[in-house]
Amino acid sequence: MTRTVYVNGDYLPEDEAKVSIFDRGFLMADAVYEVTSVLGGKLIDFPGHLARLQRSLDALDIRNPLSEDDWLAIHRALVEKNAIDEGMIYLQVSRGSPGDRDFSFPDPETCAPTVVLFTQSKPGLADSPQAKTGIRVISIEDIRWGRRDIKTVQLLYPSMGKMMAKKAGCDDAWLVEDGAVTEGTSNNAWIIKGGKIITRQLSNDILHGITRASVLRCAAEAQMEVEERPFTIAEAQEADEAFITSASAFVMPVVEVDGVAVGSGKPGPVAMRLREIYLEEKRKAAI
Ligand code: PMP
Repeated sequence: MTRTVYVNGDYLPEDEAKVSIFDRGFLMADAVYEVTSVLGGKLIDFPGHLARLQRSLDALDIRNPLSEDDWLAIHRALVEKNAIDEGMIYLQVSRGSPGDRDFSFPDPETCAPTVVLFTQSKPGLADSPQAKTGIRVISIEDIRWGRRDIKTVQLLYPSMGKMMAKKAGCDDAWLVEDGAVTEGTSNNAWIIKGGKIITRQLSNDILHGITRASVLRCAAEAQMEVEERPFTIAEAQEADEAFITSASAFVMPVVEVDGVAVGSGKPGPVAMRLREIYLEEKRKAAI
């Protein structure tokens, strides 16, 4: 099916959508993005994604070209035009196309940001079979840049990390810096030990996951004990449970780390419960 996508104010069939070869997103990875999940045709955690978009744009001094109402209207229009029941909406804002290649930022007065959005239909997203078996991860060195809190489209190393995991017969990679896990290639990393839920504290070292924030709220409401601090791969291997969070994976159990089974080697009860609570609360609050 040909998707309807959004490019700079127009809704177009995907094969008619065009962006300049001089776009700084294409030439310099000078762009930020967001991914919002859709469940039951409604947007999950949307205000959080919009707030982080603003934060990423501010950090790179890119003007937000649209109002919050406009962003919401475009998301809703794409859900409707593409009849998305379950899936994701990808949005990207680049610094724009100055019509040539130059390291200096173009004048924002004459170079408008490029805005692209498209849908990804994923029927069965919330009922993923992987959530019942859990995923297996390897660890790799975190060699990304120092501003991982900005959600840029510089995704080459995370992409390579996924391929390294695949080659090792696993599902994903956890990134390790100075002996501690920072996060997954496209998700935040968590362990549970002795009833305590542990995830790395916010800093420039990790993306400030919107799902992470929501799951922390769910855990607090369920009176679960939480500790925000770095943890090692050895700790993860000795943990009772492990899981990842992201907008499209929600809460996904991790059952193996570098070939060592975590806990029983099956999705743990706390991770499964958090997944349920998260999905239930977010479906209720979806817009
Ligand atoms: N960390 C990284 C590196 C990511 O790419 C993502 C997802 N884009 C996340 C964490 C999870 O963030 P969110 O829960 O907002 O999807």
